[in-house]
Amino acid sequence: MVERSAIKILILDDDPFMLKLLARILANQGFTAVVCCDNGRDALAQVDNETTRPDLILLDLNMPGMDGIEFVRYLVERQFTGSLILVSGEDMRMLRTAERLVQAHKIHMLGYLQKPVKNEALLALLTQWVPPSPMKPSVVKKKYSAEEIRLAINEDNLVNYYQPKVSVASGAVIGVETLVRWHHPQDGLVFPDQFISVAEAHGLINDLTRLVLSKAFAQARIWQQAGFELRVAVNVSMDNLASLDFQDLVAGLAAETGISPNKVVLEVTESQLMGDMRVSLEILTRLRLKRFHLSIDDFGTGHSSLAQLRDIPFDELKIDQGFVHRAWKDETLRVIYDTSLALAKQLNMEAVAEGVEDRDDWDLLRRTGCDLAQGNFISKPLLAEEIPGWIEVWLKRVQTELMIASSN
Ligand code: C2E
Ligand code: CA
Ligand code: CA
Repeated sequence: MVERSAIKILILDDDPFMLKLLARILANQGFTAVVCCDNGRDALAQVDNETTRPDLILLDLNMPGMDGIEFVRYLVERQFTGSLILVSGEDMRMLRTAERLVQAHKIHMLGYLQKPVKNEALLALLTQWVPPSPMKPSVVKKKYSAEEIRLAINEDNLVNYYQPKVSVASGAVIGVETLVRWHHPQDGLVFPDQFISVAEAHGLINDLTRLVLSKAFAQARIWQQAGFELRVAVNVSMDNLASLDFQDLVAGLAAETGISPNKVVLEVTESQLMGDMRVSLEILTRLRLKRFHLSIDDFGTGHSSLAQLRDIPFDELKIDQGFVHRAWKDETLRVIYDTSLALAKQLNMEAVAEGVEDRDDWDLLRRTGCDLAQGNFISKPLLAEEIPGWIEVWLKRVQTELMIASSN
């Protein structure tokens, strides 16, 4: 048993009365290591500091400014290993949806509490809390310094992997998404979640994106010359959209390599589209006018996305993997999946389901008429030279196994 006073608890709620109330209940029960924050920014500062990092967060979903769902995204970025209790005045259905969202991000959920919070309900959850088991090696992820990342960029240790996107109706291979990895001389393969946010925070993301883009375009050209007409998607960070140079960079690189803009897809994450929108909006709109394709990534995980959809002429909507895998059997996921799909159709966008992991996921896409599919069931991200061989195998597999069997 852990001493109650040793469990670090953070309460995040914009309502000062709620903060006081929860802190009092906790104190009466011997939970004395409690910190209260009335906004997400202060709470993140607590999480970022190793000495104040909480074991458990009581999180209010509805807050002005950064809301609870957005806060969870930041926890994911920080690879938060503590537990979470959601608190909200919304109805149970809303709370359950939020819970699924959190779990999709692999953050430990202790449970949810509906306001007004009852003593017993809170205590029942707290007694379930156990310290996270000593972390599995795969969970302890090394943090890299800006200097190491700068070196990786300069010494050309970043390698583009490509994950296929296929047509659900015909099985045709439509394109690939570029996913960058770091071939680290000592640590082996390092994934983007271990360096993209550091690169963003230290002003390295423009250099990184330039490198990824130029390699992806050069590769697209090689495939083209070999007879493979593939659309190449590249992930664009919000920080890339902070300066008007970006459109010239993209247009310039495409022209240099001889890649037509309509063969390029720029994937922008929905929640990133929130801060000051004017410059980014202008860049995206201009790129769209030049016929580059724009894709709204991780759809469903952010909020107020409808406004962005209205303002920016996206060509493609990517339904986040958290709402795709297992949506065939989970009603809540299914609602979000269906809504996203319907929205894409209404706005004349191509819908892409990502995180298609098994045959059941694939069959749901077939039944519901989703346009494109991406995920490990189709192919994991591959090295460029593996793509032609994979296409050959896939086209056989899709005709003989996947189309016929699922139409029975
Ligand atoms: P994302 O754009 O949502 O990319 C999809 C992620 O899901 C990739 O992880 C991919 O490997 C993984 N994935 C693919 N199929 C499946 C599946 O069936 N099941 C599951 N569970 N996962 C699947 P990855 O490569 O680790 O990339 C993580 C994130 O890093 C990407 O998320 C993207 O936001 C970011 N990223 C990757 N490359 C770049 C880049 O060049 N620039 C920027 N700014 N961000 C990048
Ligand atoms: Ca993406
Ligand atoms: Ca995504």
